[in-house]
Amino acid sequence: MTARTLLLASANKGKLVELRELLPHIRLLSLADVGIDDLDEPADDYVTNAIAKAREASRRAGLPALADDSGLAVDALSGAPGAFSARFGGAHGDNARNRATLLARLAGVPDALRGARFRCVVALADVRGPLGDRVLWRHADCAGSIAREARGGGGFGYDPLFVPAGDTRTMAELPHDVKNERSHRGRAIRAMLPLLTRYLAACADVATRPLAALPSEP
Ligand code: IMP
Repeated sequence: MTARTLLLASANKGKLVELRELLPHIRLLSLADVGIDDLDEPADDYVTNAIAKAREASRRAGLPALADDSGLAVDALSGAPGAFSARFGGAHGDNARNRATLLARLAGVPDALRGARFRCVVALADVRGPLGDRVLWRHADCAGSIAREARGGGGFGYDPLFVPAGDTRTMAELPHDVKNERSHRGRAIRAMLPLLTRYLAACADVATRPLAALPSEP
């Protein structure tokens, strides 16, 4: 196993597809590849959940693990569904129900008040490697608004309802590379790249490279 193999601490297939596109030089394993069903999300905030999932996956698999905790905050709903985005409609990961619930909650809300943003926190843990107890993380947002009906077949989750600022298309109508360029996930990964590069270099030369130079928080 080389240092360029990371475990994705998520069972979300949409995230796996996008993170493999965003990290073409990393071999990203899924939880299924290592026989883990899913991971606990202990809190109602993205940072705590991302750190917890990265640590738990790294500990259970004995591998470096990358977590992505993300969601949608809608202005007219005081920031909901937020960290509960995956289960807004009741059942965890039922995207169609989540979208239907969101549209129902926004019925009658005029266009000018349909502002929203995606947020993503990515976290890297390697509990048996050079990071020890430390977790490296970064976050990013993508601002936009909620459409009145679902459009497009790309992406996953709320993408058919989310129109990024400055565009008229939903995220699900954008080509993959355009979504990755603008999305919360793409931005968070690009913010993480310098840390990831230094971490990988430290793995290659762990005996001589001082890890104190790696900040864990933004
Ligand atoms: P969690 O991070 O596993 O708690 O779930 C994140 C949830 O937020 C997903 O199940 C989606 O509903 C939503 N979400 C996160 N990122 C995106 C995205 O890029 N597009 C659409 N929905 C997203």
